Amino acid sequence: MKSEERIIIIGGGLSGLTLAYLLSKRNSSAIVLEASSRLGGRIQTIKGALETPLELGATWFSDMHPNLLSLIDELGLQKYPQFSKGISLFQTKSFEQPQKFFIPEAENPSYRLAGGTQLLIDALAQNLPDKNICLNTKVAAIQETANGLLLETSGKEKLQADKVIICIPPQLTATQIRFSPELPEALYAVLPAVQTWMAGALKFVLEYESAFWRNEGYSGMLYSHAGIITEMYDHTNFEENKFGFTGFLNSGAATYPQEVRREFVLRQLAELLGEQALTPVAYFDKIWTDEFISAGAQVIQRPHQNNGHPLLQQGYMNGKLFFTGTETAAEFAGYMEGAVIAAKSAAQRI
Ligand SMILES: Cc1cc2nc3c(=O)[nH]c(=O)nc-3n(C[C@H](O)[C@H](O)[C@H](O)COP(=O)(O)OP(=O)(O)OC[C@H]3O[C@@H](n4cnc5c(N)ncnc54)[C@H](O)[C@@H]3O)c2cc1C
Repeated sequence: MKSEERIIIIGGGLSGLTLAYLLSKRNSSAIVLEASSRLGGRIQTIKGALETPLELGATWFSDMHPNLLSLIDELGLQKYPQFSKGISLFQTKSFEQPQKFFIPEAENPSYRLAGGTQLLIDALAQNLPDKNICLNTKVAAIQETANGLLLETSGKEKLQADKVIICIPPQLTATQIRFSPELPEALYAVLPAVQTWMAGALKFVLEYESAFWRNEGYSGMLYSHAGIITEMYDHTNFEENKFGFTGFLNSGAATYPQEVRREFVLRQLAELLGEQALTPVAYFDKIWTDEFISAGAQVIQRPHQNNGHPLLQQGYMNGKLFFTGTETAAEFAGYMEGAVIAAKSAAQRI
């Protein structure tokens, strides 16, 4: 690869930033164009009123994710196991007592990142020059020219590149970016049918002054078919001095206002864990349907449908245009591991 090549990466999520980082390690710089006002995409850690790191997006990984683990290691970050000791609950029906169970210690642990998953994004970005990251820059068109590729943003800014790597969910590529000349028909047929992992998910976080459930012998883990919360986990920080829960809400709850969702969540928890659950320090939730992840109503039926499709592994526009992003990964597509695998594979191809 020529060192003076101008490379543009579209999307500042884990995949796009890992790719930029890998390229920078071999002295080739890339510009990252990110549509939203923040980096991270489906990784988003916020802080509660007591500064507890609270994950609205990606949270867990495991020993089955060696590419992610070695990146975490290389960036000097620290992992720790998800707390699961004590009584876990399974609510089958609203009129039945919850079933109680214990997670065996020997099982493969899920890990979290000390300080929050966002630290992975921050560490990658810190390894790149500030001038190479452009926020609020949504790519709307890519045109092949005699000299390379010409990109146009939604703000009508024009940028010239020798190579472009699209690191956004493939469904969005189909709806957000105009190509000239048009991409092959077979690819156009696949793009809208590539399922975007977690599009439409409803994740909530709660922050408390203390881990009152631990004192009562509960793990904080809950699975439910009966309430607004479908899954929940203890969300205590690495230092074990900030406390909370995180989990997923029933997708039907997206139609309620956030205040109503909060009420339902607290009521379900008070019934299971006692009155102390009614007074959190903070409650947040996020419906993952915005323009940065989802192209509207999905016609997709199956999770991971068309993920890692062979047409997403090829170069287009005479070897100047490539795809990456977790949905393109041949393995672990949809997960953070897939985002890193896809970035590594793109770095090799370009
Ligand atoms: C609620 C939730 C929970 C999850 N939990 C886990 C978990 O526990 N473990 C796990 O491994 N994974 C989890 N995931 C999945 C994980 O977040 C993703 O695999 C990973 O973050 C994807 O990274 P990416 O870079 O491929 O895509 P994204 O994070 O989607 O990044 C794409 C970026 O492109 C930007 N963009 C979009 N359109 C344009 C455009 N036209 N121009 C420029 N930029 C654009 C977006 O704003 C975004 O920043 C979860 C995801 C969600 C939403």
